[in-house]
Order: sequence, then C-alpha cells, then structure tokens
Amino acid sequence: MQWGVYIHIPFCRQKCFYCDFPSYAGKESLMEAYVEALCQQIEIQGFSYRQKWGTPATIYIGGGTPTALPQEGMAKVLQAVAEYIGKDIDEFTVECNPGTVDEGYLQLLKKQGVNRLSFGVQSFSDKLLKKIGRIHTGEEACTVVRMAQKAGFANISVDLMYGLPGQSLSDLQESVGQADELAVRHLSIYGLQLEEGTAFARMAEMGKLNLPSEDEAEAMYDYMTHRLPELGYQRYEVSNFAPKGFESRHNLSYWHDVPYLGLGAAAHSYLDGKRYAAVTDLAAYIAGIRQNHEIWQMEEEATREHAMEEFAFLALRTAEGLSGRAFADKFKTSLHAVYGKSMAKMSEQGLLSVDENGCRLTEKGFKYGNVVFEAFIFD
Ligand code: SF4
Repeated sequence: MQWGVYIHIPFCRQKCFYCDFPSYAGKESLMEAYVEALCQQIEIQGFSYRQKWGTPATIYIGGGTPTALPQEGMAKVLQAVAEYIGKDIDEFTVECNPGTVDEGYLQLLKKQGVNRLSFGVQSFSDKLLKKIGRIHTGEEACTVVRMAQKAGFANISVDLMYGLPGQSLSDLQESVGQADELAVRHLSIYGLQLEEGTAFARMAEMGKLNLPSEDEAEAMYDYMTHRLPELGYQRYEVSNFAPKGFESRHNLSYWHDVPYLGLGAAAHSYLDGKRYAAVTDLAAYIAGIRQNHEIWQMEEEATREHAMEEFAFLALRTAEGLSGRAFADKFKTSLHAVYGKSMAKMSEQGLLSVDENGCRLTEKGFKYGNVVFEAFIFD
C-alpha cells in the first residue's frame, strides 16, 4: 500500500514577513516537550499505520523550520522515525533554513537516512532577503547548499519567490541563475501572496509595501516558465520544476490522492477517505498527546461532490493532469459525464487540453489556474 508521512516542526528563529504557516518564533522553551510529544505520536500512530500499510514510500519533515530544532531534538525525532515508521525510506526529505544548519547537522540527517533536502532560500539577493525578514544572506545559502552536496546529498531542492517588494526581473533572473549554477535538482517557485495576519498584509494596508506592478509580476512569471525548461527544469506542477526523475514523490502523492499521516501540531492527515487536522496551538498539542492523544481540531469526511472537486483540483495542478481512468476508478462514473461541460468551456478558452484520456492545463491554463479550478466546483 502506497502512503506517506508528514511531520511538522512548528518552530522558526523569526517570522518571515510574508508567512502565515503554522510556525512560531520565540517558543524555544516548548521545544523539548514538543519533541517528546511528537516522538510519542510517532510511536503510537506512526507504528500503527506502519503495521497496517507497511513502510511508507515517502516521509517529509516540514515546518516551520525543522532545523531550528537543536541537533539532539532532531536526533530523537529521526530515531523515533527509524524505530517506529521505518528505515531506508525511498524519499525522505527535510526542509532546511540556510541559517540553521552546519556540517554536523547535515551529517546527522544523512546518517539517519534523510536523502533529500529542501532549502527555503526565496532569493539570493541580500537586499530582498532583508526586506522579507529572512535570517540568512544569499552567500550563506550558497555555502550551505554546497556543504550539503559535499556531505553526499545529491537531491536538493531550493524554494524561490517572485513578486516580492522591491524585486525586479533582473533580481529574479540572478536568483534563478544562481540556483542553476548550484546544480540543484528541484526548484519550487512561488508568487508572493498577501496573507491575512502577516506583517506584509499590515504594511500593505498602511500603504507601505512597494510591490511590483501587475505587469512586472507577470514578466517574472513568464521569465520563470520559459527559462526553467531551457535550463532543464521541467514544470511538473503549478509551482514545481525538476529534471526528469527528480520530481518530489511526496508532493506528487498529495496530488495523486495517496493517503498520508500527518504527525505534530497543525499537521493534516488524509486517511481512509477522511481528512484530519491537529490543533495548531503548541501547548494544546502537547497536553493533548499527554492525555489520550486527543489532538484533532478537524475531522471531516467529504461529500461525494466535494471529494470529486478535490480530486479534480489536485490532479489538475500537475502537468499530467486529470486522468479519466483514475476518476472513473475512484468514483465509478465517467469524467466526461460529470465534468464534460466544464472541460468543453475551459478548452474553448484555451485553458485546458482535453482528450480521451482526460484533461490537463495548457500553458495559458497554468497561468490562470484559478479560473479552471473554479469551473470544476459544483453549483
Ligand atoms: S522560515 Fe519558513 S515557516 Fe518560518 S517564518 Fe519563514 S517562511 Fe515561515
């Protein structure tokens, strides 16, 4: 049985100005208790699903900043994973912040079976890094990626952002060039979104955020979608690019309707057709684990229609698109019977390419993905 595990480490050295992820700065005093609770959850829940489904194909430790944990804390988590979830995982990723790892830390990850690193870099420009609240410089990011390569990590991903305040097209071009020069195997590129509750949203309200114009942001998007394939990074999902064979298997499994177990505060799970979310508050999570593992703040079984919508959106995010056969296998009805009209409409607008196997976003469709996703929502 194919399944994956996501482990959430909700600590960060400082909060980036654009970030609304469930992550906290200044909560170091809770780290030890959090690691203890997490290891208990790994032992109980992780082990129970391993017994049911075998060793998972992928594990992803994300955050927050997993490497904000001191080495001893990370060592305990990795030890619990090896003992209760499994060893020799096909794809085992840890997210790293360049300002938080050194050689010793990288060696620990390597020794414990981690075989893929994802570095949140966002930009190699010091001017921009400072403006968005990152804790590292561009040079530090380069140094740590090279250090990881030297430590034996061949599969490295870098996150970059575009549409940042004060960013120009040439800034993005330089960052893409730098990532390519580092020969990383995977790039995730996100456009800045102003999320409620973030420092950037507050600055925008006060008129203090100097964002690129729509035309400038579009030029950055166009550059990225054309330049990356020229450099050998093929787009395999809305925001993800990689040479063939280096696509993130863990992320692909989310878009391919594969079940996953989320461990830790704020982690989401998708198990036996139901979705769960753990409490985001750290003290509540720790107390919940101590008392009977009561940590869920959301537990939901989707209606048939909602499940179809979700299946369609997730598959449409990928370059492969939405497969008619996979849809029919899951819902026992044909894709054309359910979504024929929407597909025809999106195809007329040049946003979707439709054939007897299903449908997928065109280049224009990737750019205006939300229009397509909306067309797959039932009235
Ligand atoms: S390091 Fe990542 S998770 Fe932490 S605040 Fe910055 S973007 Fe958010």
